[in-house]
Amino acid sequence: MINFNVPPYVDKAAVYIQECVQNQKICGDGPYTKKCNEWFEERTDSKKCLLTTSCTHATELAALLVQVQPGDEVIMPAYTFVSTADAFVLRGAVPVFVDIRPDTMNIDETKIEAAITEKTKGIVPVHYAGVSCEMDTIMDIAKRHNLWVIEDAAQGVLASYKGKALGTIGDFGCYSFHETKNYSMGEGGALLIRDEKYVEDAEIIREKGTNRSKYYRGQIDKYTWVNYGSSYLPSDMNAAYLYAQLEKADEINDARIAAWNRYYERLTPLAKAGKIELPVVPEDCVHNAHMFYIKAHDIEERTALINHLKANDILAVFHYIPLHTAPAGLKYGRFHGEDVYTTAESEKLLRLPMYYGLTLEQVDYISDKVIEFYGE
Ligand SMILES: *Cc1c(COP(=O)(O)O)cnc(C)c1O
Repeated sequence: MINFNVPPYVDKAAVYIQECVQNQKICGDGPYTKKCNEWFEERTDSKKCLLTTSCTHATELAALLVQVQPGDEVIMPAYTFVSTADAFVLRGAVPVFVDIRPDTMNIDETKIEAAITEKTKGIVPVHYAGVSCEMDTIMDIAKRHNLWVIEDAAQGVLASYKGKALGTIGDFGCYSFHETKNYSMGEGGALLIRDEKYVEDAEIIREKGTNRSKYYRGQIDKYTWVNYGSSYLPSDMNAAYLYAQLEKADEINDARIAAWNRYYERLTPLAKAGKIELPVVPEDCVHNAHMFYIKAHDIEERTALINHLKANDILAVFHYIPLHTAPAGLKYGRFHGEDVYTTAESEKLLRLPMYYGLTLEQVDYISDKVIEFYGE
């Protein structure tokens, strides 16, 4: 059986976790959390990185930092994971969904401006499959309308747009280290902060509204409750698990890219014959092989293909019932403009197995079975 996903693991993780246990340093903001934060700050050229308990929580933290209020409107795609909207709905805000582009499955930047009202406060671009949204256009719209931008870069770790790391272009960037992502700590995430002025508040909100981070750095002699907050810091054991992967980040990325390129090469003849569509990576984007997807002609063909792959011990999956059609989306959000591509394209898309450790032989086998399905 070829699984759809296998969580990334490197041997050093067990050594580092054991070290946490032996040194009795398992709570938050220990040595490994610091190492991870510094690794991302250096690697992405970001002012500040704070590990969090999930990408969902990083997005909640960002929503608190920009002080989203009930009734505020936030523009985002409907083709995304629920957390993108949840973080704002929790604060009483209204997600306003706009259509996606059929090539990258990202928010259509040309449809954003028409969705802006006097209640609009921000834009949440989601970098689907680690391929960047058209950030120059989005940042220009944000600047002209005085909106903040929170990037959902859950899938975009180590991918870039015009040389800039995803997650560092908007005011805030949110990463995920869930076990289905390129780098994992089981459950976890990170908030990237572009502007120094938010750093102190971010540390306070992440630490239950206290100034404990300052206390740990010896900047004050006791800590106290100074603001509202929550608890968004992960155990250092989880950070240790992640750090072991960061030490091999390029090796992991290269292996994923090799598998992605092999799929692309093997399936190009099918695409040329008009049987399937392949992912599109615009020129300004360097992707991270988070996902390899193909598009079938319609939902029936996709179902038949899933079954054909399953019969050959291959697990392929689809995802994202567009949020505006889900019960909570209907209740809390609205779609602006026409849904030309969101629903139609989501029904065609199929994700093939992709993980660190997937061999090129396995990619060849999976490709053969896709080709066989189309009778080529
Ligand atoms: C995985 C994912 C999330 C949620 O990440 P968690 O770390 O599980 O909270 C949010 N947005 C997108 C686009 C994702 O793919």
